[in-house]
Amino acid sequence: MNDHEHLRRAVALAGRCPPSSTFRVGAVVVDAAGTTLALGWSGRRDPADHAEESALAELDGVDLTGATIYSSLEPCSRRASRPESCTGLILATGIARVVYAWREPTLFVDCEGDELLRAAGREVHELAELAHLVRAANTHLPGVDT
Ligand SMILES: [Zn+2]
Repeated sequence: MNDHEHLRRAVALAGRCPPSSTFRVGAVVVDAAGTTLALGWSGRRDPADHAEESALAELDGVDLTGATIYSSLEPCSRRASRPESCTGLILATGIARVVYAWREPTLFVDCEGDELLRAAGREVHELAELAHLVRAANTHLPGVDT
């Protein structure tokens, strides 16, 4: 599978999110050989769970050197609910590549995940052509339409 196909899987996982007043996001972690290591989605174990966080929680102790994380939304860089952002969680691993579809709009906090990941030397790809699918999963948020 290529980046588009993996990212589409991440986008589709947002369909598993319980009803929420925040972003509905999906995430997939894939190793360097293309094997899926973990799936995640917002609110998976706890209402405050972010998608990337819930996928990475499955991989505690796993060497993620060279892995890619696909997230329907740009990884957060600051959050109200928990001390560690998804960007911080990603940077604590050996994940080499981050691929996302929708750059986080400024609804809650000003997100700098893309910039911080790049500054730390991670490869970041924004596949904006899939962003409309992510917006469609988030029309419950103010100001979001397809
Ligand atoms: Zn997050």
